Amino acid sequence: MKKYQLMAPGPTPVPTEVLLAMARPMIHHRTPQYEALFVEVRAGLKKIFQTTADVIPLACSGTGAMEAAVVNTLSAGDSVAVVRAGKFADRWVEICKAYGVTVVEMTAPFGHSVPAERVAETLRTHPGVKAVLTQHSESSTGVLHDVRGYAAAARGTDAILIVDAVSSLGIADLPMDAWGVDLVVSGSQKGLMLPPGVAFCALGERAWARAKTSTLPKYYFNLAEERKALVRNEAHFTPAVGIIVGLREVLRMLEAEGLASVFKRHDRLARATRAGVEALGLELFAKATPSPALTAVAAPTGVDSETIVAAYSKTHNITIAGGQGEMKGKVFRLGHMGYAAEFDVIIALSALEQVLADLGQPVDFGASVRAAQKIFAEKS
Ligand SMILES: *Cc1c(COP(=O)(O)O)cnc(C)c1O
Repeated sequence: MKKYQLMAPGPTPVPTEVLLAMARPMIHHRTPQYEALFVEVRAGLKKIFQTTADVIPLACSGTGAMEAAVVNTLSAGDSVAVVRAGKFADRWVEICKAYGVTVVEMTAPFGHSVPAERVAETLRTHPGVKAVLTQHSESSTGVLHDVRGYAAAARGTDAILIVDAVSSLGIADLPMDAWGVDLVVSGSQKGLMLPPGVAFCALGERAWARAKTSTLPKYYFNLAEERKALVRNEAHFTPAVGIIVGLREVLRMLEAEGLASVFKRHDRLARATRAGVEALGLELFAKATPSPALTAVAAPTGVDSETIVAAYSKTHNITIAGGQGEMKGKVFRLGHMGYAAEFDVIIALSALEQVLADLGQPVDFGASVRAAQKIFAEKS
């Protein structure tokens, strides 16, 4: 028997309390029970998104919420600026192109970020740009982008700021209202410790104003219709009832831990993982601010990162992730977001030592674990 460990950068493990809550008999979504559930969930989501705006859940994966953000705020022929430094940024570009939206790319090599000054400069030279689209945590490279700086750059311009926070909500601080982010999208299966199947859109006033004039086609993802239902504590269509039931449990857990502590925990896990990886002589893929959600590691010279991912799975029954697109074979990614704690990091690192040794790499056994333990032993 090999105990299964899910250590990918999403989906992430679901806590037992949440699994048990979701195992209860199905309820109907047009009932007082669902209404009571949704009242609590609506209030809890605002706290997690750090906004007074309503957070709209949709029954889809994170990409659905990205598409909803685009089709509800833009019109055919609009142009937008995209922070493009990873595979999830490519997704913004692809969605925009699918709807006939022109994209001005602000690119950086994978592993790097785009400075806020570049965004400000782009908005100066392209005054017609209607929105800036970015990831907060770019999960393909393990980089955390400067959303606070981008928000400052977009402030006072015609461009709204749309942020993909799928792998940062409940992981890295993103105070939507305080920073002035206009639209935040996220998903259920990363920091929120739920199965995949629910995604979220939170729109501030500037984004709702844009929704009024947006002409891109939409039916299932019509957020104005969704909001009308939401204020009655309902969903426009059948919601993912089971996951919303789990979400109430998750929101209670996050409330009990406190958001500041949740961010601190992720920061410690990420620092320990990075220290462990570097103690083995491996190189981090992120050359800019690293994401606290996951650690992307460059495979040692001469080793295909896919063999590392396969060895984790085959020999240890641990799921991690490889590189996407042109990073395939070059990068492996360790998730430490959501239902993750110190000893999960220890497991991931000690398994890495065994995997590398099995692949014939020189390994100083215990070095990565020692480095991580030192971080955990630090006060605060
Ligand atoms: C996981 C993820 C998504 C959403 O992907 P889905 O498979 O559609 O849920 C989007 N952006 C980022 C940064 C992600 O990590």
